[in-house]
Amino acid sequence: MNHFDLLIIGTGSGNSILTPDFDDKRVAIVERGAFGGTCLNVGCIPSKMFVYAAEMAHNAAVVGPALGVHTSFNHADWPAIRDRVFARIDPIALGGEQYRALEQDHVTVLKGSGRFIDDKTLEVAMLDGSTEVITADQIVLAAGARVIVPDVVARSNVEYHTSDSIMRLDGLPEHLIVLGGGYIGAELGNVFGSLGSKVTILNRGSVMLSREDPDISKRFTEAYANKYDVRTHVEVLEMNQDGDTITVHIRENGEERTLSGDTLLVAIGRAPNGDQLGLETTGVELDGNGYVVTDSHLRTAHPDIWALGDLTNPAQLKHTANADARVVAHNLVNPSNLHKIDRTITPHAVFGHPQVAAVGLTEPEAVAAGHNIVVTVHAYGAAAYGWAMEDSTSVCKLIADADSRLLLGAHLIGPQASTLIQQLIQGMAFGQTVDEMAQGQLYIHPALSEVVEQALLDL
Ligand SMILES: Cc1cc2nc3c(=O)[nH]c(=O)nc-3n(C[C@H](O)[C@H](O)[C@H](O)COP(=O)(O)OP(=O)(O)OC[C@H]3O[C@@H](n4cnc5c(N)ncnc54)[C@H](O)[C@@H]3O)c2cc1C
Repeated sequence: MNHFDLLIIGTGSGNSILTPDFDDKRVAIVERGAFGGTCLNVGCIPSKMFVYAAEMAHNAAVVGPALGVHTSFNHADWPAIRDRVFARIDPIALGGEQYRALEQDHVTVLKGSGRFIDDKTLEVAMLDGSTEVITADQIVLAAGARVIVPDVVARSNVEYHTSDSIMRLDGLPEHLIVLGGGYIGAELGNVFGSLGSKVTILNRGSVMLSREDPDISKRFTEAYANKYDVRTHVEVLEMNQDGDTITVHIRENGEERTLSGDTLLVAIGRAPNGDQLGLETTGVELDGNGYVVTDSHLRTAHPDIWALGDLTNPAQLKHTANADARVVAHNLVNPSNLHKIDRTITPHAVFGHPQVAAVGLTEPEAVAAGHNIVVTVHAYGAAAYGWAMEDSTSVCKLIADADSRLLLGAHLIGPQASTLIQQLIQGMAFGQTVDEMAQGQLYIHPALSEVVEQALLDL
């Protein structure tokens, strides 16, 4: 049995804990999948590389002609698009693993699935079929989350894809059926739709992106319904496959219908992996939704076990997982000066078309929290760059507290939303009032950021 100073389970943000502070420690890293975790291999990075290609197709098909530029979208060379992505990513995953395993003498990489057999002992079912048992003084749980596959899919005979597999398809689907109208379905559905597939989106509720501010999810759903077959209030009853044809039986707004396609993407959400780690032997607690419970220092109920990322945080975002990893890395080597994680301002973006970005409270949340609010919904088209883009659908919605003048929430839908929102995040993080954000700086004219300036001035 091997004993280590530090054991890390999961190589997503867990891998970034190993700063030079750990060079004199014996470290074990356990990973059952591709090195680098979800973001690098099957998440943020590949999906956005596809999103960028899809944007080019959309520009050629729609944007150019609308401006009098005679472009058109001919066809997508899917293998070339796919191989650009993975020829870049796969070597990074492999290189990261080899660096740890071969070039860092103090690090032992164990490729396999770990499960606790007592509070400080992990049994690792190695991918080669062998078993390793290891112990450690300090342990970091960074095991992330996994795709949820609903029973109706699992019990069918349908060959389905998730975000783990669909980006590596051999060819473009003719007709992609997307189960789920959340951000992963929206992003990947639009990738395939922009590149030429017919797309049907099956959504359980009345709108896609249902956790966004209602103004944003409504606009987003309308935009998608204008180009894709978006079904709302859908319950999937049954599905089956005959040759290349997948048939899905649904109840839509109370009526039973049948639709068919050749490819199914399941994108209804991701569940934290805490239930697979044998944590009952450790004293580490899970909350009602299966997330590992930590204190603000990211220490679990066990004093020597820490946890971070998607395993602990329902927001399931890479920038929060990375922030967690920085806190845990610090706390492991500074026990008398612990850092805290602050998740009060957690922005996110959806790289669909239109793009969405948000931070803070939605309007209903701000009202429910008892704020006396002031709200603006400001059109991109009111700013000069919005005219240049002929934009008539994009908006920046801001919600502020009328008394403190602090920004409570910002919600953008439209081009560059994920970039434009950053100054609002900064203003919130540093406690600036909306008046300071609007008037305390010069905005470059006629940049798209004038949309944000104008929205702040509205308030
Ligand atoms: C399609 C898609 C797009 C996304 N886009 C974005 C985006 O644009 N922006 C954003 O902020 N976030 C995005 N995310 C979410 C982001 O990828 C995650 O929030 C982030 O990667 C979580 O990091 P983590 O370190 O917590 O977990 P992970 O990166 O998932 O790492 C956990 C690792 O632990 C390993 N593991 C699990 N259990 C065990 C075990 N028992 N033994 C050994 N190893 C184990 C897993 O194999 C995995 O490699 C996206 C996710 C997906 C799926």
